[in-house]
Amino acid sequence: MENISNPLVLIVEDEPAQLEVLSYNLGSEGFRLLQAMDGEEALLLAEEQEPDLIVLDWMLPSVPGIEVCRQLKSKSATKNIPIIMLTARGEEADKVRGLNTGADDYIVKPYSINELIARVRALLRRTRPSGVGATLEFGDIQLDSEMHRVTRSGHPVKLGPIEYRLLMTFMEKPKRVWSRESLLDRVWGQDTFIDLRTVDVHVGRLRKALKFGENPDPIRTVRGAGYSLDFEG
Ligand code: CA
Repeated sequence: MENISNPLVLIVEDEPAQLEVLSYNLGSEGFRLLQAMDGEEALLLAEEQEPDLIVLDWMLPSVPGIEVCRQLKSKSATKNIPIIMLTARGEEADKVRGLNTGADDYIVKPYSINELIARVRALLRRTRPSGVGATLEFGDIQLDSEMHRVTRSGHPVKLGPIEYRLLMTFMEKPKRVWSRESLLDRVWGQDTFIDLRTVDVHVGRLRKALKFGENPDPIRTVRGAGYSLDFEG
């Protein structure tokens, strides 16, 4: 399993061969990946998963990349996600148009994969300064992603790998309500098919592990919506 503290990148590309090349190369650089093959799917995934960065092809069926970009940048949940646009068009006017829509960077096809990776890294350094190995904190809960260590009120908390990944996801965006489907995609992976009740079981285990002594339950069940890390249960 890749490290959950590695940045999550959404690749939006309708050509399967291109998608595969991008996924292979970004995956071997250690990025966690989400894939979308059209604009609608991209919008849904971006909103649901809040990736750390989006690589977005300009030429897409139905909703073009530039419209996807415009919509992402107009919504509060997704407007801060950095976007790199990929395009076959090299004209300066298109570049300006892309950047005007809010794209953070722009690469013309055919591009070198090394250049793309360098741009992805540069953009993430700008937007995700805490980076890998940071300690996340929520109330009296601390998660050290470098040491893979969790403490609550200074006491070590022992977690299984799934519970650790769940907590990491929660702590990356405290108070955000996660649907069971989005937790499944994020923690188990987009291509796994497991029962949603499995998510409940592992959230239950995480809750139990964190709720010791006088410590309040930090996980809120939001009926019909999912779970969030929030003391105001
Ligand atoms: Ca395309």
